[in-house]
Amino acid sequence: MIEQPYVYRRAELAEPDWTRFPGWARVTREEWESAQWQRAHCVKNIKQLRQVLGAGLSEGFCADLERDQRERATMSMLVPPQMLNTMAPRTAADEAGFTGAFYADPVRRYMIPVFSDRRGDWPSHPYASRDSLHEAEMWAVEGLTHRYPTKVLAEVLPTCPQYCGHCTRMDLVGNPTPVITKHKFTLAREDRLDAMLGYLKTTPQVRDVVVSGGDVANLPWPRLEAFVAALLEIDNIRDIRLASKALMGLPQFWLSGEVRAGMGRLGATARERGVSIAIHTHVNAAQSVTALVAKAARAMFDTGIRDVRNQGVLLCGTNDSVAALLDLSFTLLDGAGIMPYYFYMCDMIPGSEHWRISLAQAQHLQHQIMGYLPGFATPRIVCDVPYVGKRWVHQVARYDTQLGISYWTKNYRTAVEAGDPLALRREYAYYDPIHTLPAEGQRWWADRERDRAGSGLASLGAGLTPAAP
Ligand code: SF4
Repeated sequence: MIEQPYVYRRAELAEPDWTRFPGWARVTREEWESAQWQRAHCVKNIKQLRQVLGAGLSEGFCADLERDQRERATMSMLVPPQMLNTMAPRTAADEAGFTGAFYADPVRRYMIPVFSDRRGDWPSHPYASRDSLHEAEMWAVEGLTHRYPTKVLAEVLPTCPQYCGHCTRMDLVGNPTPVITKHKFTLAREDRLDAMLGYLKTTPQVRDVVVSGGDVANLPWPRLEAFVAALLEIDNIRDIRLASKALMGLPQFWLSGEVRAGMGRLGATARERGVSIAIHTHVNAAQSVTALVAKAARAMFDTGIRDVRNQGVLLCGTNDSVAALLDLSFTLLDGAGIMPYYFYMCDMIPGSEHWRISLAQAQHLQHQIMGYLPGFATPRIVCDVPYVGKRWVHQVARYDTQLGISYWTKNYRTAVEAGDPLALRREYAYYDPIHTLPAEGQRWWADRERDRAGSGLASLGAGLTPAAP
């Protein structure tokens, strides 16, 4: 046999044993598989985390978490039991070394961030900002981002059943934290959704709607079904994608009778009208793909929808290796029939430097994962460049690796550049994490920030100003 850099092994899916946690020692399968039970038992604070995990979780970890929540976190804590159960899945909570396994866990790294995870030198990039993709600037009506010529993103609600520490929409999604206030929609939900439908009816160049938020699993099902049914009535809409991390974080929702029946109705109408409905989920680590997640994905295929695809986020310490990305992609594909689609580079929000990787590393990962998966299931690694949109990482126009600045171009206009004759010739910048740069580049950024501070100017990035390196 020829030796290969990556060795494919088919993984058998299972549900980790939730009774290994003292707080769930008596939880029955029926309770576990109920979406209502899962929602009612989400972990929202340190006290609840300790109640579930018991004394195996050290005081030091809790203090680390408490400091992060006080000084750094841009998202409040919300972890469904289904997700918590996939953390440190092979370690009993009362085993010596549980805290170590929990600290090292790839899912814990992004769902329950602690202060010691973050960079002490540059917790944020100077150009980090809330709404780093400027989505609100491109709202055609409140919550409807028109950023590409033929497709829109409908933010139908600002909540999710789970909150990820690195959430791109930290500006809008979730509850305020001690360091981040949240933007609030001004229109009532019904008025917002009606305005979105009104815009789509009168904008025939839009053919593709990503129904997102937040996570559509938090919209009461009848309201979500009515919104999607209304989209299906609009002749120009040919693709509808429902964005739900909950397919993994709360598969019990997608497995419920009400949702399956409703998706069956939507799937039938979509087929009749020749429209594609797909679910886009967000899985970052292979261990998150459990038997229940696969069951939920298959239940959705049974409703006749076109596809279930995964859009993961590249996160340092979670999946920034060839093996982690290929393990995840194969597990999604083999075990659950979910199409590996994109891996995004983590966006430049405040406090994200410890998660972000450089463009050079993203290009390397893309190169290394080629040729293992079928071509149709080989995920593209993309950089969502502010004011540009998604670009494949090898599409960069210029790249200054010393300063970690990549330059990108675009081939369409949004309303923001409608009157800008140079929009299609301009270069738009994206920034590598400073700690990944050569020493000279790091010095350049440190000097620049020092000069700005000396001249009384705030750091360019909003929030969480970096400490002097
Ligand atoms: S599920 Fe998506 S929208 Fe919700 S917190 Fe996570 S990344 Fe943000």
